[in-house]
This record gives sequence, structure tokens and C-alpha cells, in this order.
Amino acid sequence: MIKPIVPPATIGIVGGGQLGRMLAQSAKQMGYTVGVLDPTPDAPAAQVADFQIQSDYADMDALLALAKRSDVLTYEFENVDLAALKHAQTYAALPQGTHLLALTRDRLAEKTFLREQGVPTANFAAVPEAGAVVTAIHTVGVPAILKTTTGGYDGHGQVDVNTSADVAAAQALAAKGPCILEERVAFARELSVMVTRDGHDVVRVFPVVENRHQDHILHTTIAPAPDLPAHVRQQITQLATTIATALNLRGVLGIEMFATATGIVVNELAPRPHNSGHYSIEACNFSQFDAHILSICGLPIPPIQQLTPAVMRNLLGADLTAARAAWPQHPEWHFHDYGKAEIRPQRKLGHLTVCGAAVETLLHQVQLEGEN
Ligand code: AMP
Repeated sequence: MIKPIVPPATIGIVGGGQLGRMLAQSAKQMGYTVGVLDPTPDAPAAQVADFQIQSDYADMDALLALAKRSDVLTYEFENVDLAALKHAQTYAALPQGTHLLALTRDRLAEKTFLREQGVPTANFAAVPEAGAVVTAIHTVGVPAILKTTTGGYDGHGQVDVNTSADVAAAQALAAKGPCILEERVAFARELSVMVTRDGHDVVRVFPVVENRHQDHILHTTIAPAPDLPAHVRQQITQLATTIATALNLRGVLGIEMFATATGIVVNELAPRPHNSGHYSIEACNFSQFDAHILSICGLPIPPIQQLTPAVMRNLLGADLTAARAAWPQHPEWHFHDYGKAEIRPQRKLGHLTVCGAAVETLLHQVQLEGEN
């Protein structure tokens, strides 16, 4: 239990992107004061916050300035400077701590932790340097994927290892820094679940959702995952509870999984609200952003209920322009525009959520002109 932090206390968010924006929107609705640290002028989160400290995340003085003005600190992405964050705890509470962040930004530490908890993962082997690639391939087998242990996201920092012709490319990646070789899982679909632990240490698990990717980037989330057998749903809820309890979790954690013919394999943890949880804003009694704020502020969270099925789709790059133009024809859309100044290809600029009973209809409703 932590002492509850109630409005008008100040929540400082490190990072001012869309996750920070939606966290700030939840916090503002509850009456908190919100500050944001982000280098971009008028960052998405800063547009809805009380103040922005405009500086780089790696700027220790700026982080400390945010901490001094905050009662509680949180972050919206993994790559925050750990030493700076530890130091910032002198001035403001950091209920999530730094252990979770250290764990989830290192794929090897993360998978090792999951394995220790009895959570199924793909087979993997450490590749600390280029010379370890061949031994790791013998351990894991092919097909496999070599990933940098830190810094990779959305398919960046990854090399497919299928044949001996791929070894040189793998060694080149491993020469740049420590890597992990993972078995390529033949999955039927990708699933995820959000979990949190409230101010009374009660674990709350969101519904399991199905995610569809394009070019390694999340494109569509179907909530709840259609046709998920009850025993698989229970297994995932149990895994999420095990992980949240082992971590003494505060805030929301996203768990990405593969569903195979034989079961569930956990791929990755995200120590924050997750893109695949955006549907919860409209479809659940409490959204993932509400849950994150309540958890870090030490407040209770009731059981999470999904009130209606929903589909969320990301608006990447030019999708946003097309969706803005099409919106007048779509009264069913919950239209989210993150207010980013620059439209760049593949950049997450907004999302759409639609709610209703028939998933096929929902999937159709979020299609933009020319898509099928
Ligand atoms: P990650 O960078 O680990 O989040 O992976 C991004 C995407 O790559 C995942 O959503 C999967 O579609 C794919 N992927 C990553 N790891 C594996 C794996 N071990 N087996 C099969 N596909 C994977």
C-alpha cells in the first residue's frame, strides 16, 4: 500500500507523445495538475497539460526540475535515463520504481525473468558479441530472429536468421552491441493484455485483445480477441497476475503474446500503457490510462469490465489526412488526433475506435477509402 496521492497534486510525465497525452487527459479529468518533459515544442501531451518543461529526456537538470514541481513521476516510454530517474526520486515519488524499467528495456533480462516465473517464452540464447552468433544458432535452431537487447522497437534492430546466408548480417548486428537470438514462433495470431495493481495491491487484468500488424507496426486491435477459448483467457489472466505480482507492479503493464497451435508464448512487456489498450478509453469502465493514474496515485481500481466489443485502428502517416477528410461520413468513429505537428510516413498520428457487437462490421467501419 502507498499513501494515496489525490488532486490537485502534480503528476510529472516524462515524455510528451500520445501515451503521455492520453495519460494527461485522464489525470486532468480527475483533477490532477500535470507537467510534461519533452523536447518538442507544444508536444502532444503538453497541449493538454498544465505545463511543459521543454528539454531533452537525457537532460538531468530538466528531469530534476520536473521532479521538483511534481508529487509523483511517471514515464510514457522505456528509454528514460535510469540514473537520472533514480536521482529524481529525491524530489518526487516514483511508484513504478526503476527496476521494472531496467528489466523491460533489456530483452535478455526480460525473457530470463519471464522464464524464472514459469511464463512460456520462445527459446532464446544470449549473443553478447558477434563471436557468439553461431553457438546461439546451434542452441536455438532456425528459423530465428536476432534482436538487439536494448533500443529496438517495431522491428528495428532485428535480423532474420533462416539460412547460413544470414549469419554475416547477424554477426554485423551483434558486433554493434549485445543481442538475443530468439526462435521464430509460428504463431496463429498476436494477442496482448494490460494489467495493473491498484493502491490496495489488488491485481486488475484487462480483456485479452487480438493485434494485427502491418510492416511490424500495430495496425488494428480487436477487443476482446474473437473466439478465444475460455481456458486460454484464464491462462493469460493467470500469467498476467503472476507477472504483476512478481514485479510488485505499479502503473499499467502491457504484455504482448503469440498464440500458437499449442498455447501461449509471451514476447514482450511494456512498462506503460500500450497502443493495443487504446480501445479501453471508450469500451471499458476504466481505461488503461485511468488505471495507470489510479495505480501510481495509490488509489483503488474496481474489476475492469468491457462494456462493448470494440476495434481500434492506428492512423499512420497519411492515414490521418484521409481520416480527417472521411470523418464527416463516420458518425460511429471515436476520432483521436494526437496533435503532432509533422505528418511523417509510418508515424503514429492518431487512432480510431468503433464499438458495437459485430466485429466484421467494426473492422469494415475503420477502413479508409481504397482499403479492403
Ligand atoms: P518486437 O520488436 O519483439 O516487439 O517484435 C515486433 C514484431 O515482430 C512482433 O509483433 C512479431 O510480429 C514479430 N516477432 C518478434 N519476435 C518474434 C518471434 N520470436 N517469433 C515470431 N515473430 C516475432
